[in-house]
Amino acid sequence: PLVTGIVGLPNVGKSTLFNAITRAGAESANYPFCTIDPNVGVVDVPDDRLDRLAKLFNPQRVVPTSFQFVDIAGLVKGASRGEGLGNKFLAHIREVDAITHVVRCFEDENITHVDGKVDPEGDIETINLELVLADLESVERRLERTARQKKSGDKEVAQEHEALLKLREGLAEGIPARRIGLSEEERERVRHLNLLTFKKVLYAANVGEEDAADPDANPHVQTVRRIAAAEGAGVIPICARLEAEIAELEDEERRQFLEELGLKASGLDRLVAAAYRLLGLITYFTAGEKEVRAWTIREGTKAPQAAGVIHSDFERGFIRAEVVAYEDLIAAGSMAQARERGMVRLEGKDYVVLDGDVMHFRFSV
Ligand code: GDP
Repeated sequence: PLVTGIVGLPNVGKSTLFNAITRAGAESANYPFCTIDPNVGVVDVPDDRLDRLAKLFNPQRVVPTSFQFVDIAGLVKGASRGEGLGNKFLAHIREVDAITHVVRCFEDENITHVDGKVDPEGDIETINLELVLADLESVERRLERTARQKKSGDKEVAQEHEALLKLREGLAEGIPARRIGLSEEERERVRHLNLLTFKKVLYAANVGEEDAADPDANPHVQTVRRIAAAEGAGVIPICARLEAEIAELEDEERRQFLEELGLKASGLDRLVAAAYRLLGLITYFTAGEKEVRAWTIREGTKAPQAAGVIHSDFERGFIRAEVVAYEDLIAAGSMAQARERGMVRLEGKDYVVLDGDVMHFRFSV
């Protein structure tokens, strides 16, 4: 499954946010195969379409799709030089698909800031510099090898070497890898290094309760927005403390509470939705009397691989898929009507699944 790692300096609110995530927690009965790792939080991906489909099918159960966050505490200044538990944490970040970077935007005299004052710009620079330095080290280590190997005349090694030289130059100036102009081919050659600064970033601007209703009034949030815009990163303002409280409430209470605050969705829901988009993920549905369920795939996934998310047998034995677009199905009002109106298509193994497709797979075992 795809995972986003939560990083940030100490005392910015990472644990508070992570607690909100685990408390809001996905219905664990739906994920019996998830390993129980205290640093991994599974959340449901909110989706209105699932509720509408449930009304249509009246199934025995409705299962949302889920998303994982992993808490990567311990990133401090000097981590790339092995300070703190530095390198170990950097290795954890290497394994995630995207990064949620928590930035402190709340003022609170009782909670020390590691550098003495609330300074989102400085904090972001500190973390990004550690990531850049860690990447620079990986690139330099790899360059020693490619310098030797390229004498063999291998074209791919030569390409990798060129790409590494470009990366070294950029990283040495503090530029993250994602912003160093590599061609698609060059990126492919260095993909195996899993560079930290190739990963997409979502900034979670953590504001205090007093700013929860209107976080953009907080000038620190504006600073984070400015930096994110320049980097092409996403921003979600959030009040981690409030989210941790909201996560404790039952559905109806939660709705009322959010309404009182003048909010449509919890910050956590917005964070999950933003992380989902950032990773280029989309949702398709399966729907029947037993179960209406949402499934996550990457954009561009073909029908057999999409079926494989449900079960590997579905992918191996894939024959065809019956597909109806969510909007069409809702407009038709029932599967039978959709069929009658010719909205249900039969698609083969080259069909690229679209967001909102309602799928029924035919397969042989
Ligand atoms: P971490 O070190 O980044 O994991 O930070 P924590 O989540 O442990 O938070 C550090 C301190 O900041 C804790 O005492 C939190 O209660 C507090 N904190 C987190 N979010 C907020 C907030 O929105 N407002 C205020 N006033 N304090 C917060």
